[in-house]
Amino acid sequence: MLIFVPKETRPLETRVALVPAAAARLVKLGAQVGIESGAGMGAGHLDADYAAAGASIVSDRAAAIGSADFVLRVLPAAIDEIRLQKPGSLATGLMDPFDLRERIEAYAAAGVTTLCSELIPRTTIAQKMDVLSSQANLAGYVAVVTAAGQLDSILPMMMTPAGTISPAKVFIIGVGVAGLQAIATARRLGGRVEAFDTRPVVEEQVKSLGAKFVKINIGEVGQTEQGYARELTPEQVQLQRDGMAKVCAACDIVITTAKVFGRKAPILLTREMISGMRPGSIIVDLAAEGGGNVEGTVADQETVTDNGVRIIGWSALERRVPRHASQMFAANMVNLIEHFWDAGAKTFPLKLTDEIIKGCMLTHAGKIVHERFQNP
Ligand code: NAD
Repeated sequence: MLIFVPKETRPLETRVALVPAAAARLVKLGAQVGIESGAGMGAGHLDADYAAAGASIVSDRAAAIGSADFVLRVLPAAIDEIRLQKPGSLATGLMDPFDLRERIEAYAAAGVTTLCSELIPRTTIAQKMDVLSSQANLAGYVAVVTAAGQLDSILPMMMTPAGTISPAKVFIIGVGVAGLQAIATARRLGGRVEAFDTRPVVEEQVKSLGAKFVKINIGEVGQTEQGYARELTPEQVQLQRDGMAKVCAACDIVITTAKVFGRKAPILLTREMISGMRPGSIIVDLAAEGGGNVEGTVADQETVTDNGVRIIGWSALERRVPRHASQMFAANMVNLIEHFWDAGAKTFPLKLTDEIIKGCMLTHAGKIVHERFQNP
C-alpha cells in the first residue's frame, strides 16, 4: 500500500500530516510512504529526517497523488487534486464537510473513500484517532500563552517589597477540550480563573482544575450523545450574555471556545459587553474560523476596539506550535491506520460494518454514504 503525504498549501498552515517518527511506524507496518519534498519544513522536519525514517521524498506532487492508495492531509484538498486520486483509493484528514460540500461530491465522483477526521466517533477506542481533540488541546494552551504575552500585566500574584500584585483574572467560555487546557494553563501561570459552559456536566471538571464555575441559569440545554453542546435558543443566548457581562468587565483575559458541532458558533460577547471591559484587556476567540464568539472578531487578525480591548481572532491556534501539533496529528493518523491494518496483506482493509469506519466514512464507491450529508 502506497501512502502519500502532500505538503499543505494553504497560507499560514504550518502543520504536516505525518512526522518522521510516525512515518517510521507506517514503514514498520510494511507500507510504502511517500512525502512531498519540504512538507515537514514548517513543523521543523527536513526531507532527510523522513528519508532516514524510510519514506521516499517525492517532487512530483500530482503524480504521487494519482498513484497513492491512501492520501493523508491536514486540511481539505483542492478540487483539482481530489480529481487526481485514483478510484478505490482512500483519503483522510480534516475535510470541513459542513461547509465544503462540493469537495465531498468531488471525492464521491472520483470514487475515493474518505475518512473524515471531524467525524471520528467520540468513543473510548477512537480517542487515539481524534484530531479535533488533539488539536483543540494545543489551541487551548496557545490561547493562554498568547494572551499572557500580550497582556499589559502579569498573571500570578506577587508579594514584593514594592507592593502586592493581584493575580490576573481569566474567564474561559466553553469548557470542552480547548477550554479545559486553557483553564489548566492559566492556573499554572498563576491566574485567577473562572469558566462557564452550557453543559452542566463540566462544573466538576472546572472545579477540579482549581477554577470557579460561573453559574448562569439559562434553562434546559444538555448535550448530544457525542458530548457536544446543543444549540441555544435566542432567549437562552441573551440570558447567557446578561450573566457573563459582569464577569467579562472584571477580567483581564477572556478566552472563548464555544462551538456547536456543524453549526455557526454563537455570538456570546457583544460590542456592548466589550465596551464594559478595561483598556488593555485581551480576548482570544478560538471560534474565529467558524464565525467567532465575539462581535468584531476578524478571522486570522488582531483588532483593537475603540476602548482599547485587543481581540485576537487567529484561526487554528495550534498552528503556532506546529511541531507538537503535527506530532499529535500524525499520531492520530497512524493510530487510525494501525488499528485496521492487515499485517499479512499489508493493506488497510475497509471494514464497512465497523463503528469507527461507519462514523467517519463520508464517501465510498462513488457515493456520499454518511447519512448526515446525503441530502444537501
Ligand atoms: P466543541 O469544540 O464542540 O465546543 C467547545 C465547548 O463549547 C464545549 O464544551 C461546548 O459545550 C461549549 N459551548 C457550546 N455552546 C456554548 C455556549 N453558548 N456557551 C458556553 N459554552 C458553549 O467541544 P469539544 O471540546 O470538542 O468537546 C465537547 C465534549 O466532548 C467534552 O466534554 C469532551 O471531553 C468530550 N470529548 C469526548 C471525546 C471522546 O470520548 N473520545 C473526544 C473529544 C471530546
